[in-house]
Amino acid sequence: MKWMLEHVSTVGGDAQAIDGVPGRYWHALDDGRIQCDLCPRYCKLHEGQRGLCFVRARQGDRMVLTTYGRSSGFSIDPIEKKPLNHFLPGTPVLSFGTAGCNLTCKFCQNWDISKARALDRVQDLASPEAIAAAAAQTGCRSVAFTYNDPVIFLEYAVDVAAACREQNIKTVAVSAGYISAEPRVEFFRHMDAANIDLKGFTERFYRSLCSARLGPVLETLEYLKRETGVWFEITTLLIPGENDAPAEIEALSRWIMDRLGPDVPLHFTAFHPDWKMRDKPRTPPATLQTARRIARDVGLRHVFTGNVHDPAGQSTYCSGCGSVLIGRDGYDITAWNLASGACTGCGMACPGVFEERPGTWGPRRRPVLLGRVLQPA
Ligand code: SF4
Repeated sequence: MKWMLEHVSTVGGDAQAIDGVPGRYWHALDDGRIQCDLCPRYCKLHEGQRGLCFVRARQGDRMVLTTYGRSSGFSIDPIEKKPLNHFLPGTPVLSFGTAGCNLTCKFCQNWDISKARALDRVQDLASPEAIAAAAAQTGCRSVAFTYNDPVIFLEYAVDVAAACREQNIKTVAVSAGYISAEPRVEFFRHMDAANIDLKGFTERFYRSLCSARLGPVLETLEYLKRETGVWFEITTLLIPGENDAPAEIEALSRWIMDRLGPDVPLHFTAFHPDWKMRDKPRTPPATLQTARRIARDVGLRHVFTGNVHDPAGQSTYCSGCGSVLIGRDGYDITAWNLASGACTGCGMACPGVFEERPGTWGPRRRPVLLGRVLQPA
């Protein structure tokens, strides 16, 4: 396809100028190029070229990842900000990203990181072991790969996840789910939880606004449900006039209901004008509430609004008796009526990963310099 060919870039034409660690999931082509098989773009690279994500590059006769060990910065966030509402609620998560992305969303809300070239955003050098140690020392229960899509730095994310498991720290992938079948298995084998962006429910939306395809994202969601124990939730950013038609929201919700079941949490979040989409207004709160009602009418049990103040739309309700299980006001937990993961009123189990008590992190966002965390007191 034309856009696939256009989105490789040449960097100086000098293979030695590209610095990186060996990447997995590629093969040599008969015409002398090498093809990256990590995501469904299948970039085909000549010497000195990088893929669309910019962080995977050809160095000699192999593929390398140029951002291994390089972060665009760390911060401690509430887990609900990822967003994950049914995974260790109230706990802090050490969050970081690298640079680049394998989608080209015109509405990107993290464009300063995702559109960054490989090295110009890098602030912290961090080994997997240092990240796991920092999470443990700061009281974080999990580490999140977020801000840009971790699929493109798979080798680094997998090593960080392995180091975290050694320290009993969970890992969370915040991803668009745009990954090929074989690497998908390795990637999610190392994750404990994920939030997958389902950006819209039409091919037109994915092609014209993200230069991608809907099908591979749906395959990832079905894979997670059928083949893994990864706890996952779904986020759809509603953009006025692009993906907020009631019929599209109903179709998306029905697909989730039919293929994934009623218990997968779904977040409808508000868009704000950003990156290359500044001609659209912010999403009205009423649009989010209408979307939530449509999804609940279809049968989904845990549907949330996001990026707006809406305590009723952000709380978790029991699917048995309807009472509030987890009350939320922004990132504050205002009620907790769960015992052993079930409703204290009627005993109905609530799907998710819960402990006896919620965390108390609240809405704080704390930037972290890894070197400082790891200095002896
Ligand atoms: S991961 Fe990057 S280099 Fe590989 S196919 Fe996707 S966009 Fe291209």
